[in-house]
Amino acid sequence: MTSALLPTYARAPIAFERGEGAWLVTRDGERYLDFGAGIAVNALGHAHPHLVEALTTQAQKLWHTSNLFEIPEGERLGRRLVDATFADVAFFANSGAEANEAAIKMARKYHAAGGHPERFRIITFEGAFHGRTLATIAAGGQAKYIDGFGPKVDGFDQVPTGDFDALEVAIGPETAALMIEPIQGEGGLRVIPHTDLRRLRALCDQHGLLLIMDEVQTGVGRTGRLFAHEWSGVTPDIMSAAKGIGGGFPLGVCLATTEAARGMTAGTHGTTFGGNPLAMAVGNAVLDVVLGNGFLARVEALGLRLKQSLAALRDSHPDVITEVRGEGLMLGLKLAVPNTEFVAAARDGHLLVIPAGDNVVRLLPPLIVTDVDVAEAVARLDATATRLEAEKLAPKRQGAAA
Ligand SMILES: *Cc1c(COP(=O)(O)O)cnc(C)c1O
Repeated sequence: MTSALLPTYARAPIAFERGEGAWLVTRDGERYLDFGAGIAVNALGHAHPHLVEALTTQAQKLWHTSNLFEIPEGERLGRRLVDATFADVAFFANSGAEANEAAIKMARKYHAAGGHPERFRIITFEGAFHGRTLATIAAGGQAKYIDGFGPKVDGFDQVPTGDFDALEVAIGPETAALMIEPIQGEGGLRVIPHTDLRRLRALCDQHGLLLIMDEVQTGVGRTGRLFAHEWSGVTPDIMSAAKGIGGGFPLGVCLATTEAARGMTAGTHGTTFGGNPLAMAVGNAVLDVVLGNGFLARVEALGLRLKQSLAALRDSHPDVITEVRGEGLMLGLKLAVPNTEFVAAARDGHLLVIPAGDNVVRLLPPLIVTDVDVAEAVARLDATATRLEAEKLAPKRQGAAA
């Protein structure tokens, strides 16, 4: 039967009925090891008891009141995020793209409030991904997402990542901000060197620009720090987060300093659903765990060990895996075979991984993944690479025999 859903996704022919930790289970009881975590969303895995408890308890009390009233759980989550970061204020949304829209509007309004409404342009970086709204596809700059949707939203200029000459040329009297992911996720797990982030910060300070970090994928413990930019010692003026922050419940946030947010006065921005009691309850529960004793240190240690195992796999399968990328539990394999084939072969072996740009597959396990799960994933990746290697070399062998 044909689907009633808009066919914008090429979905794998598989549906899950329930999940537990890093495992997903189909209706027939087939178990899959989930190293995609719903694209870095299920930070605490599936059916985490603390999140289930927080959501169901809140669900019995109150779901939605709108932002016309105070929402104590949101005040609490905002306070905790502010206390744990560079930021002074938080704006809750429901997704990464919306958090970025808030960040973009805030950067423009900052300059308008300072008497420079002409400073509205934002410089982004090749390979970026910032979401699928009209403004965020323009920010991401990828033709495949922009083409056919009418005039590209004005106000975004893009330069090659790491090209500081091009960047300095691009900065002009209309530039408001730079916007960057500390590690490009969709773009192929490309880590922006810490020295580059420091140079971006210095350029922003020199030219009076705001630095926006898109931590939608890198945030909430994914790299072994609460936010990935912390590794570089650089702080942004504005930061977006989403994906892992709700552990699977739709939630995004735009965090900023008081200074950067100076233009965002009453009435300038809004959302009907953002910051609703259900999302706030779950967001607080996620933080309870991620900020708990030793949690982030464990992510860091586990990530290092996984990366070492992946490097060993690369060495033993050079015809399939050419490079290991990433930090913490945000790792990628650059491949010498099509990444879609690798993803499908891994799925045949009941391991879920996610394709990214630049012919990379992403490993984004839940942060609560166990050592045993990690070892199992490495074994399944090994088997996947072995199979693809055999398929790749088979025609050559036949050729040699003939
Ligand atoms: C996923 C992602 C987004 C978009 O988030 P949505 O929730 O899909 O709108 C934005 N930026 C980055 C870096 C992402 O990885």
